[in-house]
Amino acid sequence: MIATSNSVLSDRVLNMEESATLKMSQMARDLRAKGHDVISLSLGEPDFDTPRHIKRAAKKALDAGYTKYTPVPGLMELREAICTKFKRDNGLEFTPNNIVVSNGAKQSINNLCMAMLNPGDEVIIFAPYWVSYSAIVKLAGGVPVEVFAGIKEDYKVSAQQVADAITDRTKLVLFSSPCNPTGSVYTEEELKAIAEVIAPHEHIHIIADEIYEFINFLDGGHVSIGTFPGVKDRTITVNGFAKGFAMTGWRLGYIGAPVHIAKACAKLQGQCTSGANAFSQMGGAHALLADLKPTHKMNKAFNKRKRLVLRLLKKIKGMNVNKPDGAFYVFPDISKFFGKTDGNMTINNSDDFCEYLLNTAHVAVVTGSAFGAEGCFRLSYAASEDTLKEAISRIATALEKLH
Ligand code: PMP
Ligand code: GLU
Repeated sequence: MIATSNSVLSDRVLNMEESATLKMSQMARDLRAKGHDVISLSLGEPDFDTPRHIKRAAKKALDAGYTKYTPVPGLMELREAICTKFKRDNGLEFTPNNIVVSNGAKQSINNLCMAMLNPGDEVIIFAPYWVSYSAIVKLAGGVPVEVFAGIKEDYKVSAQQVADAITDRTKLVLFSSPCNPTGSVYTEEELKAIAEVIAPHEHIHIIADEIYEFINFLDGGHVSIGTFPGVKDRTITVNGFAKGFAMTGWRLGYIGAPVHIAKACAKLQGQCTSGANAFSQMGGAHALLADLKPTHKMNKAFNKRKRLVLRLLKKIKGMNVNKPDGAFYVFPDISKFFGKTDGNMTINNSDDFCEYLLNTAHVAVVTGSAFGAEGCFRLSYAASEDTLKEAISRIATALEKLH
C-alpha cells in the first residue's frame, strides 16, 4: 500500500483539533510577515518582560552550573519554594513529595489526564473553557462533559449544574478561576457550593487551574477550592509562572497533588520529557520567594487596561460585553452581528466574525467556538493602552460597515 499523507499519521493526531489560540496568533504573524499592519490580541501572553530580578537569578544559576538534567519532579529548591508559596498564598499544605514541576501548566494538565483517565472516563469541564482542556481530555481517552454558563450568568456555572452532570463515570472536574477565556472569577461562596456538591462523590477529583491567580481584580483576592475540607484530599492544584510573572517562554508549571497522583505524573513525565529546564527552575524558585511587587504592579496595569477596553467596547452597538474580574481577557457576546454583511462577506457565526475582523480590521482575536462558546469572541488585553485603543477603533470601523 502506498502511504498517503494521512495514512502515516495516527488517528489520535488526525482527530485532534489544533490549538485555536496558537493557530490565530500564527495567522497574525504570517499576515504581518506579508507586510500587513496586524494587531494581535489573540494570544494570552503578558506583553511585559520577565522582572529583572528573576532573570538575574536564572543567569546566576546558569553560571553556577545548573546546566544538567534535573530530578523528574523538579529541583528540590523549587519544590520547596512552591510549598512555601502554596501555604503563604493559598493556605494549602504540601510537602515536596506532592509537587511535580513540568514544562508549563499545559504539560501539568496533560500529565494529569494521561495519568488519571481510562477510556470512557468522564471529565466535567466548565464552559467556556480554555481551548486545550477538551483536546487533552480526548487525547487521554476521556470524554469531556461540558457544563455551560452564558454571559447572563457571568459565565459561571452553578453548583446545581455540576451536581446534574455527575455520573458514575465522572472522574474529574476541570476548570480555571480566574477563567480563560472569560476573565470570570469564582467567589469563595460559589467555590464552596461546588466543593460541597463534589465532596460526597469519592470517585471524583478536581483539577483546579489557578494559573491566573495573580491577575485578579476582586478585593477578596484568590480562593483555592482545595482549601475546602470535603475535597481537600481530592483536589489537584495547577499553577505556573507564565502569567503572574510574565514567564511564558520559560516553560514552567507545577501541580500540588496527593502523593500517589504526583508520583504517577512524574513516572509519565520521566518517560516523555524528563525534568524541566534547570536554570528556568532556579529563576522560578526565586520568583516565588522574592518580593511580589512587580507581579502586583502588572495586575494593576491589567486592571487599568480592562477598564479602558470595557469603556471602548461598550460604545460599539450590538456588542454585549461582560465584566471580567481577573485574567486579561474580555469575552463579548456578538451574536447580534450574525446575518449581517459588508456586501462581500456574511457573518454567520463567531468564526466568520473573527475572520472578518482579521481581514478587514487587521485585528486578530479568537473565536468563541474554540472555547465551547459559539456566539462570542475572546480579546486579550495583554497589550499597551495605545495598541488597545487603535485595535478597538479598527474593530469599531469594521463593524460599522455591516448592515
Ligand atoms: N491553563 C490556562 C487556563 C491557560 O490559559 C494556559 C495558557 N498559558 C495554561 C494553562 C498553560 O500555561 P503554560 O504556558 O504554563 O503551559
Ligand atoms: N494560554 C494562552 C492562551 O489561551 C496561551 C496560548 C495557549 O497555550 O493556548 O492564549
